[in-house]
Amino acid sequence: MGTVFDIQHYAVHDGPGIRTLVFLKGCPLSCGWCCNPESQTFQPQLRYVAFRCQKCLRCVESCPRHAITHGDVGPIIERTSCQDCESWPCLEQCPGGALLRTGRSMTATDVIEEVAKDIDFYRNSGGGVTFSGGEPFAQPAFLLELLSLAKRRGISTAVETCGHAMPQHLQAAEPAVDHFLFDLKVMDPVRHAQLTGRDNELILANLELLASLAPHKITIRHAVIPGCNDDALNHEAIVNCMNRLGLRSLHLEPYHPLGEGKYAELGRRYACDADARSLKPERMQLLKTFFIERGLDCEFA
Ligand code: SF4
Ligand code: SF4
Repeated sequence: MGTVFDIQHYAVHDGPGIRTLVFLKGCPLSCGWCCNPESQTFQPQLRYVAFRCQKCLRCVESCPRHAITHGDVGPIIERTSCQDCESWPCLEQCPGGALLRTGRSMTATDVIEEVAKDIDFYRNSGGGVTFSGGEPFAQPAFLLELLSLAKRRGISTAVETCGHAMPQHLQAAEPAVDHFLFDLKVMDPVRHAQLTGRDNELILANLELLASLAPHKITIRHAVIPGCNDDALNHEAIVNCMNRLGLRSLHLEPYHPLGEGKYAELGRRYACDADARSLKPERMQLLKTFFIERGLDCEFA
């Protein structure tokens, strides 16, 4: 059993061909720019979509923990009281679909049954399943079971990882993974800790480990976040690291603030002050050229 917060079909990024993306809940990092804030905690969470709310306040009466109270403009959810709910009665009472549960327990067999529905697409396009998150290695036993079941069905596999994982879990998974999409966010350890909540010592050691096992499986992913990691020193350090480890494939992802609204739905504040407008296509093209001139195969989304 594991906790999954989304399964998306017919994706064309996040690995080759047509893919199904399985999002596992829980992450050891806490990047301020994360576009999936619902991925960060391990427990299922309540989302409140304000524009769907009819202000009927049925949810107030339904909650056995008194986690919802009357507010001036609708319900107010007390997040510390709304934890580990067993039956989620507020969802059933909500007529407008304003309350949503994010995260559910699934067996690995059920996940792979869902993934296998598109097996013909994978065969025709060279695609497969990509396990993402959150951090998939934060549920290591579940991930290993998923990988093993996918392989038994002949489905190609990819894992998108922030690299903050136990090395033995990476080692155990490696034979069943066809593609690693490995994030490098910030190379300076102090800055990494400031921006993600943890330094990058373990991440870089894990990248070195994977590069020694299967360098051909690794694509480095670098999310370009203006004002956070979009500077020459960081980019030179990425080049040096990849060249030292014999890695060539780099995928850039321009920052976008599309996940901003989800923070409010989870009762959180969006704390990233990156300026998306400063990240024009010309800037991404310049960056791509920068990396190609230094010997890397570079693309951007
Ligand atoms: S999920 Fe459970 S605890 Fe949270 S508001 Fe709804 S009924 Fe109350
Ligand atoms: S039950 Fe749903 S629609 Fe009614 S007040 Fe609560 S969140 Fe809004």
